[in-house]
Amino acid sequence: MSDVANHTGEKETEMTTMTDSEARVPASSAATPLYRATGVTRTYTRRGRTVTALTGVDLEIMPGAFVTIQGPTGGGKSTLLQLLGALDTPTSGTLQLDGRELSSASPSELGRIRAQEIGFVFQGFNLIPTLTAAENVDMALEPLGIDPAERRTRVAAALAHVGLADRGDHRPAELSGGQQQRVAIARAIVKRPRVLLADEPTGNLDERMRDEILDLLERLCAEGITMVVVTHDSAVARRATKRLRLTQGTVKDITR
Ligand code: ADP
Ligand code: MG
Repeated sequence: MSDVANHTGEKETEMTTMTDSEARVPASSAATPLYRATGVTRTYTRRGRTVTALTGVDLEIMPGAFVTIQGPTGGGKSTLLQLLGALDTPTSGTLQLDGRELSSASPSELGRIRAQEIGFVFQGFNLIPTLTAAENVDMALEPLGIDPAERRTRVAAALAHVGLADRGDHRPAELSGGQQQRVAIARAIVKRPRVLLADEPTGNLDERMRDEILDLLERLCAEGITMVVVTHDSAVARRATKRLRLTQGTVKDITR
């Protein structure tokens, strides 16, 4: 993982509040955007018909930002999140993650970036029901070639970090919705990602659980993980340092 630790050549800032085994992330130069999108367009062609999901999106996301993306259904939110997550590439335009071009990266390079640098959280938690919480979290470490003892330490630390130290051997059905989402967040942070991308992470939760999850996301952001959260909920957007609105494939900064 040392190759992702420091692209800027600057000295890495230690997080004094956390131990080595916890989810510590590298600090980047404040002047270099984590993401830079220039003229990003994504079209889908189906049975000869072309749908434009994103059209000429220009965007910069600085390291450490808490970004929310709002907008009507069909506006392009999930498409943008997939591009930021290296799950998809633009039809035209350029998209850089920390100065590296994602738009022209090979599938294996995109896979490596996803496995090492990007955490995903979804509305439906997407946990595997037959696995325990700890096993679900551990899955994220599988592609990273980390030895089993280190894996166990990191899984335990990630679960502790989201307040579930004592729930590692519970299966998803034995946990509340808020707890399941915290397991999913532990799975996302155990790899020590640069960025956490979340699509309606509180959409299935009641208000109290939503606020717990928001507090957790805010804390992780303060620890250095950049947040990009798609949401319909204005309570989520109130936590943002940068608020975006996507309508018909066009992005507008609505930060006040
Ligand atoms: P949102 O998440 O804001 O609801 P999406 O990014 O899912 O919006 O969709 C944006 C537009 O792109 C919509 O018109 C949608 O129908 C279209 N779209 C998204 N994914 C696909 C796909 N795989 N194939 C064809 N059209 C798609
Ligand atoms: Mg969507």
